[in-house]
Amino acid sequence: MNIPLTSYPRVVIIGGGFAGIALAKKLSKQEVQVVLLDKHNYHTFQPLLYQVSTGGLEPDSIAYPIRKILKDFPNFHFRLANVEEISTKDRRVMTDIGPLKFDYLVVASGAETNYFGNSEIEKYSMAMKTIPESLNLRSLILENFEEALLTSDLNERNALMNFVIVGGGPTGVELAGALAEIKKGILPKDYPDLDTRLAQIHIIQSSDCILKGMSDKASQRAEDFLEKLGVNIWKNVRVTNYDGRKVTTNTDLTFETATLVWAAGVKGATIKGLNAEDYITKGNRLLVNEFNQVKGFETIFAIGDIACMATEEFPNGLPMMAQPAIQQGQQLGDNMIRLIEKQPMKPFIYKDKGAMATIGRNKAVVDLPKFKFQGVFAWYVWMFVHLFFLIGFRNRMVVFVNWVYNYIRFDREARLIIRPFKRKLKG
Ligand SMILES: Cc1cc2nc3c(=O)[nH]c(=O)nc-3n(C[C@H](O)[C@H](O)[C@H](O)COP(=O)(O)OP(=O)(O)OC[C@H]3O[C@@H](n4cnc5c(N)ncnc54)[C@H](O)[C@@H]3O)c2cc1C
Repeated sequence: MNIPLTSYPRVVIIGGGFAGIALAKKLSKQEVQVVLLDKHNYHTFQPLLYQVSTGGLEPDSIAYPIRKILKDFPNFHFRLANVEEISTKDRRVMTDIGPLKFDYLVVASGAETNYFGNSEIEKYSMAMKTIPESLNLRSLILENFEEALLTSDLNERNALMNFVIVGGGPTGVELAGALAEIKKGILPKDYPDLDTRLAQIHIIQSSDCILKGMSDKASQRAEDFLEKLGVNIWKNVRVTNYDGRKVTTNTDLTFETATLVWAAGVKGATIKGLNAEDYITKGNRLLVNEFNQVKGFETIFAIGDIACMATEEFPNGLPMMAQPAIQQGQQLGDNMIRLIEKQPMKPFIYKDKGAMATIGRNKAVVDLPKFKFQGVFAWYVWMFVHLFFLIGFRNRMVVFVNWVYNYIRFDREARLIIRPFKRKLKG
């Protein structure tokens, strides 16, 4: 990999997401050599992926080059690499561009879509965890309408204009809201010769409420907002299969759709070599102690979504959200310096800053530790927080200008099929 040997201890970080970047920033002015490995050369701001899928934002406004984030730090090295295996015995990672030795290893590889073992759903559904996946979804949504315009088969047309989203968490809710706004504000203008009122948006949720991790009030208001926008919410229904056309559930309910978006779960993106049963928990996460050390190792750590740190409040691990990832990255930076200097490390204490979701124009729900509110003000708070956490001045400006433009014009300019997506068909 052509990483110079120095007298500093080498810290290898796998993953330039929220956790990995927060850690690298903390360490970069210290007397350590930091090597960050990621299979993408950019950091992705995942909370806004749904806006890329629905033409509200271009992908480059929610991505940022990793090299640029850390360009001013002399002991920092980035390599575009997919880490394939970890050898704990040799203290070495194996990647598609070669092996690399480490003194300290931090796994910050995040999460991946969890299909719960259903290979048909995995094959035919759409995920929204990365920028390429969001672009695929954007293309598919637009291609469906182009196709619907051409077909004279009514069932086929309905299937092309039906959108089924599995999972009523923030991702499912935000995507459904955006699709409903497209149906109302954009489709009639773009497709005047198609009866776009036929387009249906469904959310299927296996439990009895949407936005389950949020307050009852937030969940209820989000449901009201979605219903007003014409989204159909099916609660206590579990999707059992999807063959590329028909969605079957554990009830009599079935849906015909050309687009099933799977937003029903994620699991830790584990890497071969670190998958022994005794430190992998439910959801494929690495069991860590209060210092983020992977169970049984002193110099191997895990942070962010991949790490399962159980606390009294969160016995199954901290929520898989940006805040725990950022906070763990920052705290581990301080702790690694303490460890290297043979000082005692400080246990991680999660500061819960709340949760929020937007349903569309002027509609959001916000649960802060002390206040809970919904509606227009919540929407402004949602926008401000997302702008604040976006990396890069240019990205903040681009997103801000886009949002103002879209707000005033009721528009979404990025509805472009740049890279056509070929839908998989059965048989
Ligand atoms: C659609 C969507 C919406 C979301 N909305 C919100 C929200 O509103 N609020 C919120 O708090 N959270 C939200 N989240 C969750 C939040 O984005 C994650 O909790 C957060 O990104 C976790 O940070 P991380 O650093 O652990 O992992 P990630 O940010 O996922 O970063 C992991 C990095 O590791 C890299 N990587 C993985 N495996 C390898 C490998 N083998 N080799 C090399 N590199 C590898 C990946 O390329 C990636 O860059 C959302 C997530 C999604 C998908």
